[in-house]
Amino acid sequence: TGAPVRRPIRDLPDELISQIAAGEVVERPASVVRELVDNALDSGASQITVRLLAGGVRLIAVEDDGCGIPQAELPVALRRHATSKITDLHDLETVATMGFRGEALAAIASVSETSIFSRPAGQESAFLLDARSGELRPAARNQGTTVEVKELFFSTPARRKFLKSDATELAHCIESVRRHALARPDVGFAIWHEGKLVEQWRAATGASEEALSRRLADVLSDKFVEHSVAVDHWAGAVHVTGRAGIPDAARSRPDQQFCYVNGRFVRDKVLTHAARAAYEDVLHGNKQPVYALYIEIDPARVDVNVHPTKIEVRFRDSREVHQAVRHAIDNALAAPRAAAVVEAAA
Ligand code: ADP
Ligand code: MG
Repeated sequence: TGAPVRRPIRDLPDELISQIAAGEVVERPASVVRELVDNALDSGASQITVRLLAGGVRLIAVEDDGCGIPQAELPVALRRHATSKITDLHDLETVATMGFRGEALAAIASVSETSIFSRPAGQESAFLLDARSGELRPAARNQGTTVEVKELFFSTPARRKFLKSDATELAHCIESVRRHALARPDVGFAIWHEGKLVEQWRAATGASEEALSRRLADVLSDKFVEHSVAVDHWAGAVHVTGRAGIPDAARSRPDQQFCYVNGRFVRDKVLTHAARAAYEDVLHGNKQPVYALYIEIDPARVDVNVHPTKIEVRFRDSREVHQAVRHAIDNALAAPRAAAVVEAAA
């Protein structure tokens, strides 16, 4: 074999660029659900409804009652790197919305049949944009947005082959909404599959601690709340709230460990390690503690632009965050009320 034949350097076609980007953002129906629910939350929605067919492979529709998208901007929403959420580097460094990369809708539309149906306040009618044909026409609906994603990966069969059974994909979709629901007790969520209501979590009003407990009970179980104690701890500029399970509530699998940074669900080694360290002396064997922890930190002290799915973050001072989380759990478990919860659970 000789030297490889060199081909000229060329710009990739737009569609292919989006499909490559989609590879990073859209792994399965649950990734689409995550991106669309992120968008609904960023739009200020108070009620979000997710409708699925065939575990989300045939249809994912996310409906919200948020701010909507003006008719003229519908085509822009689908463009790569087009966003209403940041305009400059300073915004990026202090971003408070779930989205900011302007990639999700473009990526999703490149690997599915997508349409956006939206009506902002003050616009006389709603408009429906079909991403593939570009057709834009008036339609009827109240204020808000519905994004419909059909036949995911129909144009990329190699990807489609990686999908699991409908039941498995559905479970992942539900888990994705569950993560959002635990971050926002003030927002109502409903999930429908094949025309049947499978989950419904009503907006919980009232003081935030009470609303969170109600949401945790609805989404996880009454037991999660009964067998946990409130966390509320300041360490410098880091505020940790939420609930930490008592040692007896520990499970064999780490399936009830939820960490949020500024409202965003994250998987982070620093946080997991800190929690593990806090439970080290009270948990035996391979038992997995349960907790839902909400870390509020100056956005300038955490970089969320590490991974396209934003599930990973980088802290400017990870020791500071580690200690804050560890002490938050230590203190909660050591408080007299923790002893009462342990007693009641026994
Ligand atoms: P990003 O969320 O990073 O801005 P997206 O591709 O997810 O990028 O969305 C592009 C833009 O479309 C958003 O910035 C927003 O202005 C608009 N948009 C998308 N979904 C909604 C929605 N449900 N309600 C209102 N606006 C939306
Ligand atoms: Mg988005």
